[in-house]
Amino acid sequence: MKMPARVVGEEKVKIKKSFVKPWMGIKYLFKKPVTIKIPYEKVEPAPKYRGFHTLDWKKCVGCNFCGQICPARAIEMTWIEGEKRPHPKVDYGRCTFCQFCVDVCPTGALGFSENFYLTTGGFEEDLELYDWVPIHPDKVKELNEKFGDYRFPVERIEKKGDGVYVYHLRDGEKLEFKILGYGLRPPAAAKPKPAAKAQTKAPTKKEEPGKETAQPETKKEGTETEKKE
Ligand code: SF4
Ligand code: SF4
Repeated sequence: MKMPARVVGEEKVKIKKSFVKPWMGIKYLFKKPVTIKIPYEKVEPAPKYRGFHTLDWKKCVGCNFCGQICPARAIEMTWIEGEKRPHPKVDYGRCTFCQFCVDVCPTGALGFSENFYLTTGGFEEDLELYDWVPIHPDKVKELNEKFGDYRFPVERIEKKGDGVYVYHLRDGEKLEFKILGYGLRPPAAAKPKPAAKAQTKAPTKKEEPGKETAQPETKKEGTETEKKE
């Protein structure tokens, strides 16, 4: 049975008029502000505070466990030129800093820093900072030791076009790489070119798309044994 919806009109909401309440705010004029003056004041985060992510690209095996567990769908697997496996890209517009992704990472590649604040000038290009492939924990530690203010380690993310990104780190160092595509399956640009032999060899069985690129050698062996039988 459908219940009728009742909406109370604004005119029926009773607001008690008070002449004292507006004056109660005066007491706050003489109290110390609880806000911090960024960038002149700093706050020490609690030990093991769950801040921005770190990632050891060499340890990451591209299993996507982090992406699967993420309740906010904040992780997107990213194929980077020169890397054999995709790495997680974290969208801080969605991330809730639960760190489930860090807990589930089987290789310990994904970690988190105590860095917690990211303020921008409000420019359009600053939005790039909220969506990144995390950098090595040692670099974040080094920046923290140098600046000691727990800020986001990247000052600016430059989009050069054709998938090339430059991370301008706070100490002036630049990290340049090319993103080939997103998703679990390798994009066409990331697929290894087939050897001349494999091109001439006719396939014996209808193969499932994607399997060949993931494990090309295992597949070849399988077809040979099938022939012998
Ligand atoms: S911290 Fe939580 S919300 Fe953020 S990317 Fe990891 S799993 Fe997703
Ligand atoms: S960061 Fe960890 S969980 Fe995520 S893809 Fe890499 S190895 Fe897998």
